[in-house]
Amino acid sequence: MSKKCLFDAAVLPFYDSWEIMNPEDQAIAQRKKLVEYINFARSSVPFYKERLAGFNESDEEPLAAILPLTSSDLRPLLPPVSTKLLSLTTEYYTVFQSGGTTGFPKSTLFSFDELEMLNLPNSRGFFAIGLTKEDRVANLFAVGGLYMTFIHINRMLQQYGCKNFPFSNHTATDFIHTVTKLFGINCFTGIASVILNTMRGMIHLGIDGLNIEKVFFAGEHLYEADQNELKEKFGVKCIKSPGYGTVETWYIGYQCDHCPLGVFHAHNDQCYIEIVNPDDGKHSGKGVPGLLYVTPFPRRLTPVIRYSVGDRAKWLSDSCSCGRTTPLFKLMGRGDNILRIGFDSVDYEYIQQILSEYKGLSSNVQIEKKRVDGRDLLVVRVETTEGEASSNWMGQMQHELEAKITEGRPSLREAVAKESVWPISVEILKPGALPRNSRTGKLIRVVDAIKG
Ligand SMILES: [Zn+2]
Repeated sequence: MSKKCLFDAAVLPFYDSWEIMNPEDQAIAQRKKLVEYINFARSSVPFYKERLAGFNESDEEPLAAILPLTSSDLRPLLPPVSTKLLSLTTEYYTVFQSGGTTGFPKSTLFSFDELEMLNLPNSRGFFAIGLTKEDRVANLFAVGGLYMTFIHINRMLQQYGCKNFPFSNHTATDFIHTVTKLFGINCFTGIASVILNTMRGMIHLGIDGLNIEKVFFAGEHLYEADQNELKEKFGVKCIKSPGYGTVETWYIGYQCDHCPLGVFHAHNDQCYIEIVNPDDGKHSGKGVPGLLYVTPFPRRLTPVIRYSVGDRAKWLSDSCSCGRTTPLFKLMGRGDNILRIGFDSVDYEYIQQILSEYKGLSSNVQIEKKRVDGRDLLVVRVETTEGEASSNWMGQMQHELEAKITEGRPSLREAVAKESVWPISVEILKPGALPRNSRTGKLIRVVDAIKG
């Protein structure tokens, strides 16, 4: 006899009973999970023995004394450099890349069991925004190049009970257009800019006979203006995100029908989630933005404790009108030094490092994210070291830098090639031309012109 599909296994009115458990019981259960996880990490990974010495089980904030893990901490602990973060119990795994630049991809490892366990947060998220057995779903998530998302979302969609169309991000728009029409595909899921690009391409091919009601995006914001465009041109009724997470950690949040843009229910049975002010290390109260630190309980092959995901967020005090008891948080964009361009996270240090290789350029650099005609644009501005650089030299340098910065970032390069983001724009300026904070005189290094 075949197993029940994931949709039929839902414990109504929501996907599972955790979503309706009262908050006190959730907190007790979550604390138990955390204690067990910390003990597991301490006993199976020597790296954590000393690092977790400050864990205080009975404290209100039990991880407060533990150093947050960062992306650069992980690299020397993981293959190909070392196996220091691997627990002693596991022998086989799948290697995914967690972004990064050419030459040395950052890796993240998942065991088979961990990949299977992604079915729960995946189906919980898709269920909460209204995926049903009637839906015909085009999966446009990223695949190949050690990308992770398509693989586990495909796995979930196969078992969910819907009709699954595994296109990935590599299928030509005219083919997607044809299949969408022939099979009556009514739901698109994928990275926001890929969906947008595909649907915009379909407009040129003719939208007669198409009926796309649901757009389930992830990986980046789908801005209000773009949402309105899809609603107007295609008559899309529901635009939501089934999940927010990172490949270094796990799924952290999911939306429901009632969540506005950027607001998520926490997967607080999957992760221990903290929002912390990075300046003083204090936990932020409700409504106060801070950096997100995540401890994902299912990650056993490489335990991950207090990972700083680089995004800012705040807890919301209201409970959701959907009736779910899982707490709400709002994403506030990337941390101070990172801009999300398409689905690449470009950090200020990467740009600085490239520019430092060129003579005649100062370290006074500003990066800005703009949104132009529905696509992201990264602008890099740098001051020269001398006042009188020739316009010839400046023009040549500008083109060289644009090529060099793009060359080092595979996913950005691909997005530019597919015209889902604009090519990088470099501006070379005279000394002192960049804007400074009028009070402190400090350079304004990173500007995110988008308030999503
Ligand atoms: Zn809700």
